[in-house]
Amino acid sequence: MPLKIPFDNSYVALPPRFFTRQSPDPVDAPELVKFNDALARELGITPGPALEMAEVFAGNALPEGAAPLAQAYAGHQFGGFSPQLGDGRAILLGEVVDRNGRRRDIQLKGSGRTPYSRRGDGRAWLGPVLREYVLSEAMHALGLPTTRALAAVTTGEPVYRETVLPGAVLTRVADSHIRVGTFQYFAARRDTEALQALFTYARDRHYPDAETPLDFLRAVIERQVKLVVQWLSIGFIHGVMNTDNTSVSGETIDYGPAAFMDVYHPVTVYSSIDHGGRYSYDNQANIIAWNMAQLASALVPLMPDSDAAIRDFTDAVNAMPGLIRAEWTAAFGRKIGLANAGADDMELIGELLTGMAENRADFTNTFRAMIRGEGRDQFTDPVVFDVWATKWRERLARESDPQAVMRAANPAFIPRNHRVEQMIEAAVAGDFAPFERLLRVLSRPYEDQPGAEDLTRPPRDNEVVQQTFCG
Ligand code: AMP
Ligand code: MG
Ligand code: MG
Repeated sequence: MPLKIPFDNSYVALPPRFFTRQSPDPVDAPELVKFNDALARELGITPGPALEMAEVFAGNALPEGAAPLAQAYAGHQFGGFSPQLGDGRAILLGEVVDRNGRRRDIQLKGSGRTPYSRRGDGRAWLGPVLREYVLSEAMHALGLPTTRALAAVTTGEPVYRETVLPGAVLTRVADSHIRVGTFQYFAARRDTEALQALFTYARDRHYPDAETPLDFLRAVIERQVKLVVQWLSIGFIHGVMNTDNTSVSGETIDYGPAAFMDVYHPVTVYSSIDHGGRYSYDNQANIIAWNMAQLASALVPLMPDSDAAIRDFTDAVNAMPGLIRAEWTAAFGRKIGLANAGADDMELIGELLTGMAENRADFTNTFRAMIRGEGRDQFTDPVVFDVWATKWRERLARESDPQAVMRAANPAFIPRNHRVEQMIEAAVAGDFAPFERLLRVLSRPYEDQPGAEDLTRPPRDNEVVQQTFCG
């Protein structure tokens, strides 16, 4: 049977200045690396022969019903505004309405130059493609909202970075690719008509209950607060929280230099381009508020009375630190077995984290070890843990099943940076077994998996990944 994607496209019906119609650039020798059968079923896609799928997901053949386009957007990159970004190396093939009635984008990433490429080559290499595949699928299994990976192909073409690398294309699935930067694109042009059309479209697609731009802003804020706190609770560092990488749907998007922390430290940074630590682990909570302030500014022109709007929008953004604190306390409370942690518990949680930072404790393994009563082994000075644990046990006396709460909140498996790097190295050498194994183990991150203990091990000194790159 041939590949069948039941396209139902809506973005292409927006005004022409939202995008440029553009087909992917064909490549020399596409080969299918991976196809996500479970996700395909969810999307109502009928898989075809591997050869056909390689052609389609490399961009050499357009599937029936596709309406390929590159989206326009703007964005604040490290705090500086770029009025003209856009899909420089991505093509939206179209949308499908999945089995649950949810509209999903299907996008090729690394599919060649577009009018928005600027000096870029429009391409991606195998490393970042497999990295995004593994990280996004792991995030999904961890229970976080995220874009997904439908397919990965190699192109048979070289990609030139610091060295010559094998080219690849990722097929990404998203609730949409509407970013804070998409709103900023039209706001910066004072194109209120387009802004209104974008608002109506994004509202209908993501927040149908929102009547006004203020409702919409509050709804986006609510989802982003939840998302960023979930990131913090699993030790995730996005790495490039530019406003063009902040989705209004509230999904994790754009896994460039994204990384999971090994040893806990609040100012951890991996991205090679984040010199000031703007997007460090701890600062993500501040940055999301900053990004929501940018969304608020972009929406102001849609309000008839802008003075009142500015006041309401400011209040909505100013409420974020309080919302984040409450979500954070609940999430980290669950990590130590408290089903409904409140403000009174913040000190207990904070003390553990301080101890972890001072004792070079592995973030993931410490919480997991605490389920087994072995948290102290993760501290360079176990007595520090013991002193804290006396207070912890007192507090746990008021809980009914703290172990179950902890098991559900603390994964055993995360995509550790050194494993991801080792997986990429193997794949470049033609061995995809580590990629397949990582995917398999990370699909059940909250279960102990006999035989996979090596994937819970923190990096040895010579394995530590110091920096991650945009790709
Ligand atoms: P990012 O920081 O990865 O979110 O990308 C920021 C902007 O750079 C977006 O407009 C991307 O489409 C564009 N971009 C990134 N890499 C490339 C590339 N290799 N070729 C063309 N455009 C790119
Ligand atoms: Mg991006
Ligand atoms: Mg990127």
